[in-house]
Amino acid sequence: QQVAFDAMVEMARLGIIPSPGNEKRRANAAFVVLLRNRELADFLATMRQLEDRFNHKYHYPYIFLNDEPFSEEFMQLVAISTTSNVTFSMIPRDHWSLPDFVDPIKAAKAREQMAADNIIYGGSLSYRHMCRFNSGFFYKHPLLQSVDWYWRVEPGVDFYCDIDYDPFVYMQNSGKLYSFVIALKELKSTIPTLWQHTLEYMLNTNASSDLMSYFVSETGDYNLCHFWSNYEIASLNWLRSDAYDSYFRYLDQAKGFFMERWGDAPVHSIAAGMLLNRDQVHFFDDIGYRHEDFMHCPDTNENLGMKLKCQCPQKKNFDTSAGSCLPRWKSYSPAEWTPRDTAEAL
Ligand code: GDP
Ligand code: MN
Repeated sequence: QQVAFDAMVEMARLGIIPSPGNEKRRANAAFVVLLRNRELADFLATMRQLEDRFNHKYHYPYIFLNDEPFSEEFMQLVAISTTSNVTFSMIPRDHWSLPDFVDPIKAAKAREQMAADNIIYGGSLSYRHMCRFNSGFFYKHPLLQSVDWYWRVEPGVDFYCDIDYDPFVYMQNSGKLYSFVIALKELKSTIPTLWQHTLEYMLNTNASSDLMSYFVSETGDYNLCHFWSNYEIASLNWLRSDAYDSYFRYLDQAKGFFMERWGDAPVHSIAAGMLLNRDQVHFFDDIGYRHEDFMHCPDTNENLGMKLKCQCPQKKNFDTSAGSCLPRWKSYSPAEWTPRDTAEAL
């Protein structure tokens, strides 16, 4: 019991559990939610869980973003679902439109082809705007300029367990800059040339880290592993750094957000691989989470699920599925890697 008590004192000292007096340790952070008016009901269900499991004790504000005006009903129902601050804002037009260096006709042809090939969201232009926005623009939104940390939340996701400490403060105090709960493989057909452009960029900039090796297969190719960005707690200052932003701009110029269908998840992940070390990325094992058919639930063998009052459905953890990249996360050894290693191998 003394051990448990000491652990609590330490957590309070670090500011990762609430206690009177450590209010000031609260991180400069916000939930960031991009969504459409028609997703209101799905979001309210998610928000209910997030408030109940975490935010009614921590009161982090919500920032809602949309490419169209939010409806009155949307804003009212969201506002009465929390005691925290809520702000609604539109996305600047040039953060959600075809850049002038992309030919709209060629882009439309590319979409047609990808739709014909039955690639998920292959025919959608709005999905591409969303991926590009999440890759390179949301952190530039005026409402986020004075914020250090964000937690991305999507409508319809579930949070199954109590979150009984402050993940933002945890990140801040332990030197983390990026985090995930689910890691999986991207569909190759959505990113045919993303890796090639990344290698070019790395050769130009001489970037190297010990995390990139996590993403590289034995043949030097991208192994398609990525952290799923529908759940994300990360540093906005990292995304706003020249290093991240210049990688984004390089990719943007390569046109793959429109001529292919690059997702923000592989972009964030590969950027982390290039720019961060393994210790700066955190796997939130204790957060019970589901997006679509993919669920992560804390390990019940160690009574964590009971302690956190998890209500995970009787369903398999994605962690043990063949497509999960979590086993690799746990087993790979961080090692210096540069694209020269690949250039020589190819
Ligand atoms: P998936 O998770 O890859 O299947 O993609 P989603 O459809 O869930 O989209 C990812 C996020 O972007 C979600 O929060 C959506 O609500 C949001 N989103 C997607 N498309 C649009 C759009 O056209 N407009 C707005 N405002 N939000 C969008
Ligand atoms: Mn989604």
